[in-house]
Amino acid sequence: ISCNRSNDKLAVLSEVENDTSTTIDNKVEELLSKMTLEEKIGQMNQYNGFWDLTGPAPAEGAAAKKYEHLRKGYVGSMLNVRGVEDVRKVQKVAVEETRLGIPLIIGFDVIHGYETLSPIPLAESASWDLEAIKKSAEVAAEEAAAAGINWTFAPMVDISRDARWGRVMEGAGEDPFLGSKIAKARVEGFQGNDLSDYKTIAACAKHFAGYGFAEAGRDYNTVDVGTSTLNNIIFPPFQAAIEADVKTFMNSFNELNGVPATGNKYLQRDILKGKWNFDGFMVSDWGSITEMIAHGHAKDGKQAAEMAVKAGSDMDMESYLYVEELAGLVKEGKVDEVLIDDAARRILKVKFELGLFDDPYKYCNEEREKATLGKQEFHDAVLDMAVKSVVLLKNENDLLPLKKGNQKIAVIGALANDKTSPLGSWRIAAKDETAVSVLEGLKQYNGNEIVYAKGADVSIGETNFVKNLKINNTDKSGFSEAKAIAKNADVVIMVLGEHGFQSGEARSRTEIGLPGVQQELLEEIYAVNKNIVLVLNNGRPLAIPWAAEHIPAIVEAWQLGTQSGNAIAKILYGDYNPSGKLPMSFPRNVGQVPIYYNYKNTGRPSNPEPGVVFWSHYIDQSNTPLYPFGHGLSYSKFEYSNMEVVVNNSAEEVSVSFTLKNNSKIKGKEVAQLYIKDLYASVTRPVRELKGFELVELNAFEEKSITLTLTKAELGFYNNEGKYVLEPGEFEVFVGGSSNTVLKEKFDLQWDINQ
Ligand code: BGC
Repeated sequence: ISCNRSNDKLAVLSEVENDTSTTIDNKVEELLSKMTLEEKIGQMNQYNGFWDLTGPAPAEGAAAKKYEHLRKGYVGSMLNVRGVEDVRKVQKVAVEETRLGIPLIIGFDVIHGYETLSPIPLAESASWDLEAIKKSAEVAAEEAAAAGINWTFAPMVDISRDARWGRVMEGAGEDPFLGSKIAKARVEGFQGNDLSDYKTIAACAKHFAGYGFAEAGRDYNTVDVGTSTLNNIIFPPFQAAIEADVKTFMNSFNELNGVPATGNKYLQRDILKGKWNFDGFMVSDWGSITEMIAHGHAKDGKQAAEMAVKAGSDMDMESYLYVEELAGLVKEGKVDEVLIDDAARRILKVKFELGLFDDPYKYCNEEREKATLGKQEFHDAVLDMAVKSVVLLKNENDLLPLKKGNQKIAVIGALANDKTSPLGSWRIAAKDETAVSVLEGLKQYNGNEIVYAKGADVSIGETNFVKNLKINNTDKSGFSEAKAIAKNADVVIMVLGEHGFQSGEARSRTEIGLPGVQQELLEEIYAVNKNIVLVLNNGRPLAIPWAAEHIPAIVEAWQLGTQSGNAIAKILYGDYNPSGKLPMSFPRNVGQVPIYYNYKNTGRPSNPEPGVVFWSHYIDQSNTPLYPFGHGLSYSKFEYSNMEVVVNNSAEEVSVSFTLKNNSKIKGKEVAQLYIKDLYASVTRPVRELKGFELVELNAFEEKSITLTLTKAELGFYNNEGKYVLEPGEFEVFVGGSSNTVLKEKFDLQWDINQ
C-alpha cells in the first residue's frame, strides 16, 4: 500500500517526512515551525466518529461543522471510527484535503480484545500470568491494528478496593504491586518492541488519577485521598506504565482532593510530566474538560479550556473546547503559545513513532483486515487466557473435576445459555451472541447426559452499553422446571451472576449479591439436590456468603470472552487444572466494602480476648473477607515448607526461599506469593504488602525450592512528602498461596537509603 499524496500543497510536509537524516524530535520541530496556531490546536482536538461513513459527507448541522474542521486540519484524532474502509475515509480527508496532510491518530477502546475477545481485564489479572496477559494484549493489538486502529485507550490501571464500582472489571484489582506488573505487561503487549510495526498500537494508561477511589463506589464520584494512598497505592501502576514506555495517558472524570483531574496541574504537570518526566501526551476523558463546569471548578467553557491546557491536558476528547476557545485565549494573552507547542509536539511525536507519516494508510490494508480478524490463532490465544483466568473458590469432597461419561448433568441458569454476557462490557467491535456459551462448551464432552433449564433471567429488558438495564427481575415461573431437572441429576451446574452490562462504566451497584431472583433459585435447587457446582459469571467481586457456606464447589469464571464456554468446560472436566488467584478480595456483604488485604492496623487489637468490647470491628459481621486477595484452589494440593530468609547487606538484597510441593497426583500450577510487613515506620505500613510472586508448575508429587528476592525497590515506601524512603528496622515476611499466608519469618534491616 503506498501513500497517495499527489496534492502539491503537501510539499512542505513531504520535505519533513522524507528527511531520513534527522531524528523524530527534529522532524517534529521542523513540522511545528511550519504550522499555524490553528493547525497546532487542531492536533489537540479529538472527535468521535461523527458521520455515518457509509453515506455522503455531512452537509449541515454539527456534523458538517466537524467535517469542515477535519478538512481544515483542525482535527488531530478521531475515536470510534473502525474498520479499514471507514478509517481510510477519514484519514484520506486529513491527508489529502488539509494544508499539511498530517495523518490522524485513530483511537478506540480495545479493552480486552477487538473482535475476538479475551476475558475482561479483571479476569485476566486473576491469572497472575504476565506472559499470558502480555500475549493477550498483543493479540488485541494485532486484530485492532488490522481494522485500522492505531491507538487503544487501555490499559486501565486504576487500583480499586470497591466492588460496588462497575469499572473494577476493567482493571487489575486492588493491589499496586500486581497492578504494576500487569500494567507493564499490557503496555508491552499493545506496543510491542517496535511501535512502527503494523501489528502494534499505542497504549494509554488511564485514568489519571484516583478514579478507582470514587466515594461509595459510585462512578464519577468525588475522590478524596491522602498523599500516602496516592503515592503508594494509586500511582505505582502508572509509573510502571511509563517504565514500559507507554505513549499516552488519559486523565479522569473525578475530582481529586477538590480539583478535577482534567484541570489538575499537580497531577499532570508536577507529577506526570515533571517528576516522572513523561514525554508522551495526555488525552482528556470524554467531555471531561466541559465537565469542569459542572464540577464547579470552571466558570464556562472558555475558562475550562484555559484550565485544562494549563494543567497539562494535551488533547480534548469530545469537549470541542480546544478547537473553539484556545486560539482566542492565546490571542488574548491568557494562554502562552508555548503550551500549545508543547501539546502539539507530544501528539505529533507519537504519530511519527507510529510510522503514520511514513505511510498514513499503513493500518488500512483490506486484505490484511480480512485475513486477520477472527483468525484461529486469536481464538486459541483467548481460550488459553480464559482457562488461566478462572479461579476455583471452593471444591469440597473433590466434586470437581467432573467425571467424564455416565453422569446426568443438569445445567441451570440464564447465563449458562447466554452467548452475549460472557463478552462483558467494552466490546464495541464484537457482535452480540459471539461467545461460546457454557452449555455449548459442555455439550462437546460426550458421554454425559445434559439437560438444561433457565430457571430465571438475570435482568429484564434490552441490554446494551448505552442503555441502563433493569436488574430487578422477579419472575420465578421457571423455577419448577429447573427443580425438576435438578432432582434427577447426579450433578447440577448452575451458572449465575451478572449480565455482561451489569458491570462497566456507570454500572455501580449497592447490592453486590446475585442479582434478581438468582439467590432464591440457588437455594431452591439446593433444597432438592446438594451436589451443585456454582459457576459465577460476573465483572466484580460478589458477596455470596450463603453460597460459600452451602454450595460444595464454586468456580469464579468472570466474563471470559469469546471462548468462555469452552474454557469453563475444560476447567470443569479437568482438562485444565485451575490456577487463578483473586486479584480482589470478595466481601461477605456490601457493608464491609471497601475491604482489602493490605489494610492498616489500628490502635486496637484485631483479635481481642473474649469480653473485650472496644476494638475495631462490626458487631454483626466479621472483619475478614469471604475470600481473600490471592485466594484460588487447584485440583492439585500444594504445600509450603522450609522457609529461609537471608539478608545480604553488601548486595542490598533479601532472599526468601521456601519449598513448594505438589502433594497430589495431578500436575498443576500454583502462584506462590510473598508479602512483607514493615513493623514500624514514619508512615504506618499495611499488615501485608505483596512484594513478589512466582507461577510455578509442578508435576505429581514434585517439589521445588523457590527463591524470591527483595530489594530496595520492594522494601521502601513513599512518605508523606512523596519521597521514596527505606527506614531501618524490623520486617516480617510471609509466604503462601494467598494473602492468608502459611509461613512467616522476621528480619532486621539496617539499610537507610536516605544516607
Ligand atoms: C471512558 C474512557 C474511554 C472513553 C472513550 C469514557 O467514557 O471513561 O475510559 O476510553 O470514554 O470511549
